[in-house]
Amino acid sequence: MGFFSLLCDSIMARYIFITGGVVSSLGKGLASAALAALLQARGYSVRLRKLDPYLNVDPGTMNPYQHGEVFVTADGAETDLDLGHYERFTGCPSSRMDNITAGRLYLDLLSKERRGEYLGVTVQVIPHLTDAIKESITAENEGVDFVFCEIGGTVGDIEGLPFFEAIRQLGNELPRGQAVYIHLTLLPFVAAAGELKTKPTQHSVKELLSIGIQPDILLCRCDRPIPENERRKIALFCNVREPAVVQALDVKSIYDAPIVYHKERLDSEVLSAFGITNAPEPDLKTWHTISHRVHNPEGEVRILVVGKYTSLPDAYKSLREALVHAGIANRVRVCLEWVESEIFEKKDLDFFLGNVHAILVPGGFGERGTEGKIAAVKIARTYKIPYLGICFGMQMAVIEISRNVAGITGAGSTEFRHVQEPVISLMTEWTDDDERAHRSKSTDLGGSMRLGSYEAYLKAGSKIENIYGCNRIFERHRHRYEVNLHYRDRLEKAGLVFSGLSPDSLLPEVIELKDHPWFIGVQYHPELKSKPFDPHPLFVSFIAGAVEQSRLV
Ligand code: GLN
Repeated sequence: MGFFSLLCDSIMARYIFITGGVVSSLGKGLASAALAALLQARGYSVRLRKLDPYLNVDPGTMNPYQHGEVFVTADGAETDLDLGHYERFTGCPSSRMDNITAGRLYLDLLSKERRGEYLGVTVQVIPHLTDAIKESITAENEGVDFVFCEIGGTVGDIEGLPFFEAIRQLGNELPRGQAVYIHLTLLPFVAAAGELKTKPTQHSVKELLSIGIQPDILLCRCDRPIPENERRKIALFCNVREPAVVQALDVKSIYDAPIVYHKERLDSEVLSAFGITNAPEPDLKTWHTISHRVHNPEGEVRILVVGKYTSLPDAYKSLREALVHAGIANRVRVCLEWVESEIFEKKDLDFFLGNVHAILVPGGFGERGTEGKIAAVKIARTYKIPYLGICFGMQMAVIEISRNVAGITGAGSTEFRHVQEPVISLMTEWTDDDERAHRSKSTDLGGSMRLGSYEAYLKAGSKIENIYGCNRIFERHRHRYEVNLHYRDRLEKAGLVFSGLSPDSLLPEVIELKDHPWFIGVQYHPELKSKPFDPHPLFVSFIAGAVEQSRLV
């Protein structure tokens, strides 16, 4: 299907393009998500998309220090963490179509070129790459009122140019009044002058204008209110209407953002830029409740998180948020004590006892630091401290129980260099859409994992069944290795319950311990589905367990 027929199909959708300037990490993703939540609260349907100009095909193979968390969609795409914000604020599940990278587009383009599909023409950035970008933006938007399209990076980045060019072209090709450009900038406060400075914003808008994009709205990040004079100056020099200069003050909790943006009239400005004057007022009751609960906890629990990349807040973004959501549900503040697992290998473990109310080992990859994680499991098991093991954290729990309870002393994972007893290993086959598929270590790293939403059956009468309140669940996965069922009998004799299995019973999805107040490991990532207004039951129960524990210590 050609680009124009696609465009006609999605003609009803209005497009909001979000770009950033001055510096990165200003929170474009969060701003998009919060604005989308506001439009939803007015009764509109939304779809959010992220375009990443880097050359990786997806962030799946990137180091968390480079990129932060890899967010996995239900349909199994490894995507940018902004998609997590989108889902958490709107509740709309994203798909692999919602995160497009330059790498992915070039890969498709060059494969097409090799197949001779361009019929001898010179393949160029304009129009071939820009057309491909426009097709991705406009595809499958039928029935959506507002499509958000965020461009990664900042204006002026070389690799971003084709993306800015594509959204510029779309502004002309869409019917008049169907596209609005929001530019997010920073107003730094310079102490020596005692002023918020507007010059970086002016330069950033100039850069945008030089590629043909006139922003309709400027969203200005600042740590104090913008004085009238500065606001006027920005409007004048950046050629925007004065009310369209919207301040985005720092917020204490990200869940305050929808309320704060509404107070600053961001949603009204966007609607008026589209010429919509009769929109209903937003219903913000839910956001007020969430914000009130975040700021008024009735207690506090401390959770020890033993992982890698603990110094980088974005590496476990969804996990942090899922714990906040569970705190909201339990009316407590959840304080996280992050410990680098390698440190845990050396430190006196007893130091933590009495100081923490639960222990969590999150997902992870590679052998480094695993002994520290296994030591953390041992502490949780022997001192009966609530334990949640997510993916790698479940695998570490199985190794610990194998070694120290089931007597399988050489227990380990085939992900590690030397292993005598592979209690965690690669399964050669697994069920994928009714076909038997094979996984091996030798394939391309990207996309070689079991990714996305899979079904699991929960054992009747188990703790996990009780937590979910049902015996059939769908959760998102991102792993290569699994618990090796050859060890099942020995592990069950040691008190381990296989309380969740894949429908073919070949793949353990949940394990739990019988004689323990709260000890659960899951092969999937429940944090990816948690929302502030719909907290994940597993985290809610885990934090309730921590609250219980806090009464004991
Ligand atoms: N490294 C483990 C595996 O691939 C766990 C992955 C994870 O925690 N996401 O199975």
